Amino acid sequence: MPNLHCNTEFIDDKQIWKLIDNAKEKPVDSSVILGAIKDVENGGTLSIDMVANILECSDPAVEEALFAASKTVKKGIYGNRIVLFAPLYISNYCVNSCSYCGYNCRNNLARKRLTMEEIAQEVRILEDMGHKRLAIEAGEDPTYCPIEYILDAIDTIYHTARSNGVIRRVNVNIAATTVDEYKLLKKAGIGTYVLFQETYHRDTYRRVHPRGPKHDYDWHLLAMDRAMRGGIDDVGLGVLFGLYDYRYELLAMLHHAYHLEDAFGVGPHTVSVPRLKAASGVSLAEYPYLVSDHQLKKVVALLRLALPYTGIIISTRETPQLRGELLELGISQVSGGSRTDVGGYQQGHEDTAQFELGDHRTLDEVIFDLLQRGYLPSFCTACYRQGRTGDRFMQLAKTGQIQNVCHPNALCTLQEYLSDYASPATKELGTKFIEKELAQLTNLRLRHRIQDCLVSIEQGQRDIYW
Ligand code: SAM
Repeated sequence: MPNLHCNTEFIDDKQIWKLIDNAKEKPVDSSVILGAIKDVENGGTLSIDMVANILECSDPAVEEALFAASKTVKKGIYGNRIVLFAPLYISNYCVNSCSYCGYNCRNNLARKRLTMEEIAQEVRILEDMGHKRLAIEAGEDPTYCPIEYILDAIDTIYHTARSNGVIRRVNVNIAATTVDEYKLLKKAGIGTYVLFQETYHRDTYRRVHPRGPKHDYDWHLLAMDRAMRGGIDDVGLGVLFGLYDYRYELLAMLHHAYHLEDAFGVGPHTVSVPRLKAASGVSLAEYPYLVSDHQLKKVVALLRLALPYTGIIISTRETPQLRGELLELGISQVSGGSRTDVGGYQQGHEDTAQFELGDHRTLDEVIFDLLQRGYLPSFCTACYRQGRTGDRFMQLAKTGQIQNVCHPNALCTLQEYLSDYASPATKELGTKFIEKELAQLTNLRLRHRIQDCLVSIEQGQRDIYW
């Protein structure tokens, strides 16, 4: 039985500062850190003390070893696969006044909530791009955006198909809610429930969320506990980097992950590392804790070593170049072709966007780039449809067995993409890529099985998964 203790002491301000201060005042020798990094390469996990020490360490040899190890660990667990998704913004009504967000209720922004027909139109556009996995995004508003509206939206998305286009997994990023409402989301067949803590630092949290239900730190922090109690075992954590000291945020997010593992036997399915971006009514000049590209790379590499089996997501907030560099260091999921304004896929502009984007490429351009860099783009959604969620997923990931299904599924879904949506250049590159991947498979039985699946897909069969 999960331990259902409901206090927030797993985020202990003093303890987090102690970790940071100790690492600064009593730094451990580089040779000890290098040894710990080596252990992770051999199948271990980086401890939170070591994370704090590496954050403070300026020895270039340590940084080099960190980045090299994160590449090795990433490759060992995820191979060269990168999962793709797109956000779908359905409502920007919001009763909160988060100081960093374009949807702040005090902002004079055109408010819009999509009708079910408008949601279906957006979904058709996303399907025509080739997407199979969406993340619903909405502001918090009990009147204009109640749970019934979200449930209708999920139902609409799952029931909107055009030609070979179909959305097979809907993740949800909506405000913290009750166990009963999480149960309803679970029943509606969501994939991951995503909620960013924004900042784990209590005083900063209060300051940047001055009014509205989101003002309540404890309610927000315990949302994942309630989601788990509501039966959702795939949850996604995140910090909005730039609100407070990034070292504190990273260590606190690790404590959150450990807490979930202790209390429910399963840690977060994903973590996200969004950085604060300029938005309507938001000037970055007012935020003293902005995180540099270099710091973000360190964060991703450390997360990869501290939570080796957790997916790490990077969004189109970041530029194509930085996204490319972060992929090597541990990112396993990326969004592509995204719009962050309500109805943005139809309108094709970003007037009411939640924040500014750094990557404006089409999904096809993102796929082409991934292939060129040697990554296998995956539209796979099989795990949760096969019941491989929560601790079952983690067990398969930890024993490495997940490779046996993820790799074939990635190849099959890439083949679907190439057959149905790719530009001629992407199709040519992708076809060669698949051939190369198959040639590298030493298990001939497996190779032939996958080849058979790919032929079936070329002949018109869809949704073959392992
Ligand atoms: N309404 C949900 C809630 O209350 O948590 C969240 C949905 S919101 C559409 C998704 C995320 O966008 C937020 O959790 C926040 O981290 C991020 N976000 C908001 N403003 C941002 C900004 N200016 N730059 C980057 N990300 C931002």
